[in-house]
Amino acid sequence: MNELGRLLAQRIRATGPLTIAEFMTEALLHPRLGYYTTRDPLGARGDFVTAPEISQVFGELIGLWCADAWEKMGCPARVILAELGPGRGTLMADALRALKVAPAFRRALALHLVEASPALRAAQRAALAAAEPVWHDSLATLPDGPLILVANEFLDALPIRQLVRGEHAWHERVVTLDAAGEALAFAVDAAPSAAAALVPATLREAPPGSLSEIRPAALSLAASLGARLRQQGGIALFIDYGHGASACGDTLQALRRHQHHAVLAAPGEADLTAHVDFAAFAAAAREAGARAWGPAPQSGFLAALGMAARAAALLARATPQQAAAIESGCRRLLDPAEMGTLFKVLALADPTLPAPAGLAEEHAP
Ligand code: SAH
Repeated sequence: MNELGRLLAQRIRATGPLTIAEFMTEALLHPRLGYYTTRDPLGARGDFVTAPEISQVFGELIGLWCADAWEKMGCPARVILAELGPGRGTLMADALRALKVAPAFRRALALHLVEASPALRAAQRAALAAAEPVWHDSLATLPDGPLILVANEFLDALPIRQLVRGEHAWHERVVTLDAAGEALAFAVDAAPSAAAALVPATLREAPPGSLSEIRPAALSLAASLGARLRQQGGIALFIDYGHGASACGDTLQALRRHQHHAVLAAPGEADLTAHVDFAAFAAAAREAGARAWGPAPQSGFLAALGMAARAAALLARATPQQAAAIESGCRRLLDPAEMGTLFKVLALADPTLPAPAGLAEEHAP
C-alpha cells in the first residue's frame, strides 16, 4: 500500500468505511499526497489527454463561442470570464488568442480561474499571465455581475457516491479494509442509505443489484450557478463525458499513463473520474431558475461552431508535419469512436437569453 493508502486504512480503522466520494476527495485532493495537488497529469507523458491539449482549434472555437454569448447578453461593459479546472491553461490561452478578433469583448472581460491544484495553478500562471487572472478555490468567491463560464472535463473529477439497490432499499457502496485488514476493498453498507433521496426519480425503482451514481457536489454547483445566472445574467458551458439521460452502472475509473488502473490500488497516483449525468445536472440548474441547452454531442457542437473552416485556415499555412497533426487532432475530437459522441456539451443560462451558438435544442426534462 502507498502512503495515502496507509493513511486511509488508519482512518477506516478509527472511524469506519469511507463513501466513494470521501475516497475520491482524498485521492484527488489530499493536500500533500493527492493526485491533482501533486502533479500536472495532462499530456502524452502524463496520464490522460484532454481536448484542448489535442487541438488548438478546441479552445479557439470556445473563445468565439464566448464572444457570441457576450453579444447575446447585450455586450455588458464588464463581464466575468471564468473557467473551472483550467488544467494547464491551454483552452483559455487558445480562446484569448482567437478573441483578438473581438477587441471590445477582450476589453470588457476580467479573467477568473477556479482551481484546486497548486501545481496546475503554476502552469496556468505561466500560460495566462498577460490576462492577469484571479484564482479562486470555489465558485463562491467570484465577484458579482454578468458571467460567462466554461468548464472542460471538470465535472467528471467531482466526487461521486455509489448506491446499490437491495431488495427493499438503496445501500451505500463504501471503501473499507479486506478480511485480512491489509488492503483497501469495496463493500456495500448493510443499512439503507439516506442518500437514496438523490437517486434520479427515473432510476429509483431499478431492480435489485442496480448501481446508481450520484454527484452531490455537481448538483449543488448546478443549483448555485443556476440561481446566479438567473439573478445576475450570463451563461455557463460544460463539456464532459457522460450520459444524456440518467442510467445505472458503475463508471468509476482510474487512469494512469493512459491505461486503466485498479481504482483502489494506488490512491493519489491515478486519475479518478466517472461519467457525468447531464440530465441530473441540468435538472438541478433548472430547479434553481436557469435554462439548460443540450446536451449535444461534442462533434455536432464543434461542427456547428465552424471547426472545418478553422481547420482549413490552419492547414493553408501548415507544414506537412503540422498538417498531419491538425487533421488527426480534429479527427479525434469529432470521431464517434473517439471523443465525438461520448463527450457532450451542455449550457446553463439566464432564461431570458436566446439559444447559445451550437446548442439549438433546449434540454427536455
Ligand atoms: N480543463 C482542463 C483540465 C481538466 S482536468 C483540460 O481540459 O485540459 C480537471 C481539472 O479540474 C484540473 O485542473 C484539476 O486540478 C481541477 N479540479 C479537480 N477537482 C477540483 C475541485 N474540486 N476544485 C477545483 N478544481 C478542481
